[in-house]
Amino acid sequence: MTQSTVLELQRLSHVYVNDKGASLAVEGIDLAVARGEFVSLVGPSGCGKTTVLSLLAGLFPPTGGKVLLNGEKVNGPSAKVGYMLQQDYLFPWRTIRDNAAVGLEINGTKSKTTMRAVEEWLAELGLAGSSQKYPHELSGGMRQRVALARTLVTEPEVLLLDEPFSALDLHIKLQLEDLVQQTLQRLGKTAVLVTHDLAEAVAMSDRVIVLGRNPGHIRKEIVIPEEIRAANPISARKLPQFQSVFEELWAELDAVDGGGEKNG
Ligand code: ADP
Ligand code: MG
Repeated sequence: MTQSTVLELQRLSHVYVNDKGASLAVEGIDLAVARGEFVSLVGPSGCGKTTVLSLLAGLFPPTGGKVLLNGEKVNGPSAKVGYMLQQDYLFPWRTIRDNAAVGLEINGTKSKTTMRAVEEWLAELGLAGSSQKYPHELSGGMRQRVALARTLVTEPEVLLLDEPFSALDLHIKLQLEDLVQQTLQRLGKTAVLVTHDLAEAVAMSDRVIVLGRNPGHIRKEIVIPEEIRAANPISARKLPQFQSVFEELWAELDAVDGGGEKNG
């Protein structure tokens, strides 16, 4: 572990056991993520992306190897790690403000001060006027911004993002990619994104990890060139270097799948 490593996976493996038997989902994954780094995991459906993210979040212990957060073994969910998912899981009967405070309630840190922070985050993410509304009154993109506010207000060091943009229309998706990346960069947060959208991975990340399956393992790591990293995700797509990195990634996934589907 170097000085700035926040997250570390060491020989991580996981076997799921259920009534149908045991299956090895991921095997021998080694990965170190530096403070402030944005890493994406891509790979075909079933290659273990969600499993890796769940293990990072401490939702269940790995059957082999370990996860370290700031050099300490992860033994369960931690307030230092925030999660953002494809579904926003907002409670329909709560206002936006009260939904954004759910993480604080779970962590036992709800107070006058932190509720002010909720309002500030909602305003920062363009939701000031929606604070007293209910989830059904908001668009999909707005709801994901509430989910982001709910996570950020708990001040996690690490954000885990499991396809948070994949249910959104393209235009909204690009805007939200920009907002999320710029916000996390400004705050110096460390992030791990799972996505099946290769352009999104290239546009948002410092590094893209390609996983192969049966069982899930790391096939390749692509470091995103500085020019693309320096640009926000929307402008990054227009850079001349973008296409070649995208094609490199595409070719790698074709090799995984033998030209089959890339989704997942
Ligand atoms: P991805 O997110 O890349 O699509 P997952 O991490 O969801 O992949 O799944 C990896 C493998 O583990 C798949 O073969 C999947 O069927 C299996 N798996 C995932 N969750 C469970 C579970 N709760 N019980 C049994 N097998 C599971
Ligand atoms: Mg998944």
